[in-house]
Amino acid sequence: MKKRIVSGMRPTGKMHLGHLHGALDNWKKLQHEYECFYFIADWHALTSEYASTGIIKESIMDIIIDWISIGLDPEVSTFFIQSHIREHAELHLVFSMITPLPWLERNPTYKEQLKELSQKDLYTYGFLGYPVLQAADILMYKANGVPVGEDQAPHVELTREIARRFNHLYKGIFPEPDTLLAPTSKLLGIDRRKMSKSYNNAIYLTDTDDEIRAKTGQMITDPQRARRTDPGNPDVCNVYSFHEIYTPVDTVRQIDKDCRSAGIGCVECKQLMAENLLKALAPIRIKRAELESDLGRVREIVEQGNSRARSIAVETMAEVKEAIGV
Ligand code: SF4
Repeated sequence: MKKRIVSGMRPTGKMHLGHLHGALDNWKKLQHEYECFYFIADWHALTSEYASTGIIKESIMDIIIDWISIGLDPEVSTFFIQSHIREHAELHLVFSMITPLPWLERNPTYKEQLKELSQKDLYTYGFLGYPVLQAADILMYKANGVPVGEDQAPHVELTREIARRFNHLYKGIFPEPDTLLAPTSKLLGIDRRKMSKSYNNAIYLTDTDDEIRAKTGQMITDPQRARRTDPGNPDVCNVYSFHEIYTPVDTVRQIDKDCRSAGIGCVECKQLMAENLLKALAPIRIKRAELESDLGRVREIVEQGNSRARSIAVETMAEVKEAIGV
């Protein structure tokens, strides 16, 4: 029996290269090692998008299509939509009863996000309780592990604490999941900040060739290299990080040499990278076009995943209710 993992994505916009190399590549690798449950976290999206929900519905199918296009296999992994499994809300309610407020208030991610998303009013119960819903998502499937980025690691720790508290108060039915730290992506946005929709600096999987060429043309390179004749430093250049992923290794070595000796200019270097990036994205786009012309098949995949997830969720909730005596 393979160990089980659960991970989700909030449907708050299109997938970009940061998602691809930050989470999805890792999910793809894990699907052969674990029994994977990947879900669209639409209730989680509500915690920040409650005042303007249009983006949530718009993004759901897009994201599922991207998952399959980049190589996540619905025959191997289970894809489902959180809000279609109402047991998540029930378990969230139960966990809300037993989670002490200070556990949530001391959460470092909560404090950081309040600062980062200061343009939104996030002083809501739902936003504070985000990790409790996350605990319900994970423990519902009795996951052994949760692949997350470093910023989400405190949430997994909180999940473990909630599992322990439930097991202690009622009955030992929940395992304590491990944190499976995802490797951090080196790719930054075109302005050298973290790639993010909110910074308007992302390259999306759905961008056209022209959009990708235009965006790569605007990328900030080594900030110390002011003139074409100045030697550059690939170690601090975001374009070079892209080359390391998309360009054949011999060419990458040559770029390293040429950059340091001012043998190549940044314009030429970016153009070369853009063409290699487009080549790498080509199979993803072909798969995407195929799926877009057969949305019925995509809906079927989601329905199958929902029903697989639901059958486990129903069993877990029965055990939970039996354990707490309601
Ligand atoms: S030549 Fe290439 S690697 Fe060197 S600084 Fe310019 S873009 Fe970056």
